[in-house]
Amino acid sequence: MSEIDRYRQETTGLSATAMIRWALSTFGPDGVSFASSLGAEDQVITHLIAEHAPQIPLFTLDTGRLYQESYDLLERTRERYRLEISVYFPETKRVEEMARAHGPNLFYESVENRKLCCHVRKVEPLGRALGGVRAWIVGLRQEQAITRQDLRPVDWDEANGLIKISPLAAWTESEVWDFIRRHDVPYHAFHDQGFPSIGCAPCTRAIRPGEDTRAGRWWWERPEHKECGIHLGESAAGTAGPATTSPAPFGIQEIETS
Ligand code: SF4
Repeated sequence: MSEIDRYRQETTGLSATAMIRWALSTFGPDGVSFASSLGAEDQVITHLIAEHAPQIPLFTLDTGRLYQESYDLLERTRERYRLEISVYFPETKRVEEMARAHGPNLFYESVENRKLCCHVRKVEPLGRALGGVRAWIVGLRQEQAITRQDLRPVDWDEANGLIKISPLAAWTESEVWDFIRRHDVPYHAFHDQGFPSIGCAPCTRAIRPGEDTRAGRWWWERPEHKECGIHLGESAAGTAGPATTSPAPFGIQEIETS
């Protein structure tokens, strides 16, 4: 039995809380971390970690293109849970080179340019943030996008060379919001203004009634292109497993975090 199959067997039927506790006991506080994009799902996981497994390290990425409201939520989350949330930034030199070569709004010009920007501002910092861990926890759900329909609670993340744990994989959107209201979890102000998913300011818009929940991210691109590289290969993870137990910190090919 592969390592992934064993983990899947151990976690079958577990609640989100139990999955998070399992991740801590299996990988230890130095072997797993939680990547928060401050979206609704990630706020649920932050709450669960604060309540049930506060030893798990949390981090977020500051791409340099976020909304002010995202920083406001980060501050409210820090105050509410008294957790240390590490913030990782892109490398200055790479941002400067990219802006010099392609201008400040390169992402609108081509998918290639958009992925370059996501790589510089998200993937590379993510690789640094994940350095040294064996597994990471994310707030992905199956019903969020066509690229996530086959998402499983425990997957092998080929791009990052890590085990990816999605405690909310099977949750519905209404379950997320029921939880947020029941526990008074802080959430992004834009969720009340038609933004189901919030990323960088130039690449996120509100959605119209009936639109797919991911329609507001990179709205000028076709749906199958809408991953920033952080979560590539979700549906292709299958039963493959790690070749070694060491992470590949800079093994990410492209990028998105939420
Ligand atoms: S979401 Fe947009 S601004 Fe943010 S890193 Fe990707 S392309 Fe750049």
